Amino acid sequence: MRIAIIGGGIAGLAAAYELEKARTAGAAVDYALFEERPRLGGSIDSEMVGGAVLERGPDSFLTEKPAAAELCRELGLGGELIPSNDAARKTYIVTRNRLVALPDGLMFLVPTKLVPTAMTRLFSVRTKLRMALELLHPPRPSEVDESVAALVKRHFGQEAVDRLADPLLSGIYGGDATQLSAQTVLPRLVEMETKYGSLTRGMLAAHRKMRALAKNSSKTQNRGTAIFTALRGGMGTLVDAIAERLDATSVRTSTPVRGIEKTAQGWKVLSDGVSEEFDALIMAAPAWIAGELLAPVDAVLGAELGGIPYSSSITVNLIYDEKKIGPLPDGFGFLVPVVEGRAMLACTFAHRKFLGRTPPGKAVFRAFLGGKKRTDLLTESDQALVEVVQREMREILGAKTFGAEVKPEFAQVTRWPRAMAQYAVGHKERMRRVNARLTALPGLRLVGNAYDGIGVPDCIRLGRKAARELAGVPEPAAAGKR
Ligand SMILES: Cc1cc2nc3c(=O)[nH]c(=O)nc-3n(C[C@H](O)[C@H](O)[C@H](O)COP(=O)(O)OP(=O)(O)OC[C@H]3O[C@@H](n4cnc5c(N)ncnc54)[C@H](O)[C@@H]3O)c2cc1C
Repeated sequence: MRIAIIGGGIAGLAAAYELEKARTAGAAVDYALFEERPRLGGSIDSEMVGGAVLERGPDSFLTEKPAAAELCRELGLGGELIPSNDAARKTYIVTRNRLVALPDGLMFLVPTKLVPTAMTRLFSVRTKLRMALELLHPPRPSEVDESVAALVKRHFGQEAVDRLADPLLSGIYGGDATQLSAQTVLPRLVEMETKYGSLTRGMLAAHRKMRALAKNSSKTQNRGTAIFTALRGGMGTLVDAIAERLDATSVRTSTPVRGIEKTAQGWKVLSDGVSEEFDALIMAAPAWIAGELLAPVDAVLGAELGGIPYSSSITVNLIYDEKKIGPLPDGFGFLVPVVEGRAMLACTFAHRKFLGRTPPGKAVFRAFLGGKKRTDLLTESDQALVEVVQREMREILGAKTFGAEVKPEFAQVTRWPRAMAQYAVGHKERMRRVNARLTALPGLRLVGNAYDGIGVPDCIRLGRKAARELAGVPEPAAAGKR
């Protein structure tokens, strides 16, 4: 069986890796990976500058989703995995130009501890009262999807949307809480509302359960509990390790796919004037490109895929000499609510979040800008973006930390146009319709961040699953949706 993979981001690479494994194990499979850019990795793009790891795209993955760490271990990178420095984990929300720490006990946007919630300067007294009364919220069936903003507003009020949901989601998804689907992005909260009514009561019950489970499992195994896991040399190490395993003649970089045709036997892929026949197709390009390529095969499917919204973002990495900047607040960094009216959505103190990736005496700041509401920033020059980040850092962290004369030793700007899929209200329904169309197109699989999870582990899980299905390799035991 010959399989074409379109897109060499992490989803396409994970698929190629699985097919290569099957091929070398003797299965009758062969593949070709088409990637438009000269390099592999898609949104994963790391660079080492003066001994500091700079991440243009993802800097880590969620530890609770094991697909990424599992793949790293399989590739011999187990010793390169490093946990986030959770002992120093503290995140601030910029509130009227001041940094206010997220209150202790906050879980998935839900306050669970009375005293820290009552004491925080993040919310007004009115919102705090509302949070207390939320315990009385009656259960509500969840058949109809709504936005994250609508769900949070019903439970905790508009201020919780502006000061909590919006910055947390725009910092993660570059998204907009008024657009993102509660059913898809926060399914646990939707389930809790159906069962308990109050999200706080639901979260406390889930927490009790988790603690009991952790107590039992700690008797049998010693699991790391860091929230994020990264690779010592950067996320690009994973891309390089996969690329090394692949059959070099099967990987075609700088080769954009221009068209796809369905034939009686399978699929025809057209790239730069060359047409090749395949038995199956793994589509790992962003959904808006998949939609364009698949429209001539199935116009309805093409329109559904083209309808999945994407957000654009910008990362700005700055390296400073630590001696030249003043003391920083404790913690990993801060998030900036849209209501603050700034260009920055978030800023990570990268040298604090992961230890050992920055040389001693240096500090690395990773600012995240753009998102759904500030697409205008994409057309600004690098210099203008660096200047705006420096100015906002000075205004937020204070002139004592960043005096006007303090300049970064190195600045790197990366634009990510339409890179992050947004699970908008109705996403689950859209995916039902997409999957129904796919039943008429056997041999076609869609993988990537637009479908069933935005993060790196989800993309790896989907890529490997698609490859196994097509190559007829059985799923490993316990490989559910993890
Ligand atoms: C700034 C940023 C920060 C992020 N931070 C995190 C994080 O910390 N943790 C985390 O888990 N996730 C994070 N994410 C999300 C995660 O990185 C992505 O969801 C994931 O890497 C997407 O992988 P993918 O393979 O689906 O798509 P992509 O990486 O977008 O890859 C798709 C590939 O398809 C190629 N392509 C497009 N058209 C064609 C064509 N016609 N022919 C051939 N090739 C084509 C593209 O060039 C690209 O290489 C972040 C994303 C961004 C942008």
